[in-house]
Amino acid sequence: MTVRQRVCILGSTGSVGRSTLDVIALHPQRFEVFALTAHHRVDDLAALCERWQPRFAAVDTAEQASVMRARLVRGGVRTEILHGPRALEELAAHPEVDSVMAAIVGAAGLAPCLAAARAGKRLMLANKEALVVGGELFMRAVQDGGATLLPIDSEHSAIFQCLPPDRAAWGRHIDHILLTSSGGPFRTRDPQTLHDVTPDMACAHPNFVMGRKISVDSATMMNKALEVIEARWLFDLAPEQVQVLIHPQQIIHSMVVCRDHSVLAQLGTPDMKVPIAYGLSCPERIESGATRLDFTRLGGLDFEAPNPQRFPGLGLAFEALRGAPGATNALNAANEVAVGAFLDGRIGFTAIHRVIAGTLDALNGRFGPQASLDDLLALDARARAVSEQLVGNLKR
Ligand code: NAD
Ligand code: MG
Repeated sequence: MTVRQRVCILGSTGSVGRSTLDVIALHPQRFEVFALTAHHRVDDLAALCERWQPRFAAVDTAEQASVMRARLVRGGVRTEILHGPRALEELAAHPEVDSVMAAIVGAAGLAPCLAAARAGKRLMLANKEALVVGGELFMRAVQDGGATLLPIDSEHSAIFQCLPPDRAAWGRHIDHILLTSSGGPFRTRDPQTLHDVTPDMACAHPNFVMGRKISVDSATMMNKALEVIEARWLFDLAPEQVQVLIHPQQIIHSMVVCRDHSVLAQLGTPDMKVPIAYGLSCPERIESGATRLDFTRLGGLDFEAPNPQRFPGLGLAFEALRGAPGATNALNAANEVAVGAFLDGRIGFTAIHRVIAGTLDALNGRFGPQASLDDLLALDARARAVSEQLVGNLKR
């Protein structure tokens, strides 16, 4: 009998977390759900524990933990319930865990990602913000800990699938990469009317059902901006080696343009289960449960350059990448605050990029050292405070 891979899913109640469980459900002989975590949706997590009977689960507060314990005991479920941010780190680095799916949204996922990296886990990274906040520290932790870092973001998984297995050869192979983007729900909307956009309109993505934060990021194209920074670290590229191409059908998930001008692409239906299955099984391929691509029913594949007026966030990301260490951390914090304020109805859609640009201007390169997790979190907190102030000034 083969030994099952023990998987810890951080952010198991979210869109990526649930898709991960859908893939695992197809392969009970290969994977064991060892630990599940969630932040607020305790009822959802309790239901997942009843279904999957993991050894551990983690929630945010002690109160949530005791509510969940009582429910699970009544149902005869023996899952041990932990709570608080340290619990996430403990589970991510638990000696019996083989693989960690990092599917928390935002900078909150950084500490458990670092813990998994330092403990040498197979680390499947959906939580792109972790790399945007702490790319250098993160990549060093992966190397020092001997972890295997597998991209889950569909564009980065596509690039990864187009590259040779020997990472040392990547630099000689890649001229540049083309990160594809659907262009989001406002690709063709008159930029003059963007200030009227509501949270529900911004969350209606043309091809994917995702968490609300990443949905807003897709509408502003800050998602692609964060992915540019993510790609810089995952594939060790210079900013000029990362280009963005709008491709509304999302059939090509990204491309590598090689030194000899050959272009390699990965294609499929837009479904996160494909990159998740590859993260779980690579270098092997397993059933993902995604719909198959039928070329005879594809109308056509379109491409266009992003419009910098419509999507100013993309330019901000390139500027931050070229700026002092810490700039991308501040950019991420400002984006998280601005998206939260937009979703709560405190600011309008077009104010999101103004909060980001205003935060970077206000900090004016004074980011402080970025050598440890504490340094990164200190800047994150400082940038959030500045952004909150800007949100207050911009209030509708
Ligand atoms: P989501 O909002 O659906 O789920 C987020 C999960 O993280 C939930 O389980 C929530 O409980 C947990 N969480 C939220 N805040 C937390 C905190 N402070 N501490 C601990 N846990 C917390 O998000 P999602 O759409 O699944 O996205 C997750 C990550 O994957 C994001 O970084 C996103 O950018 C990335 N991603 C998502 C998709 C997608 O299709 N949804 C695709 C590519 C990349
Ligand atoms: Mg993506």
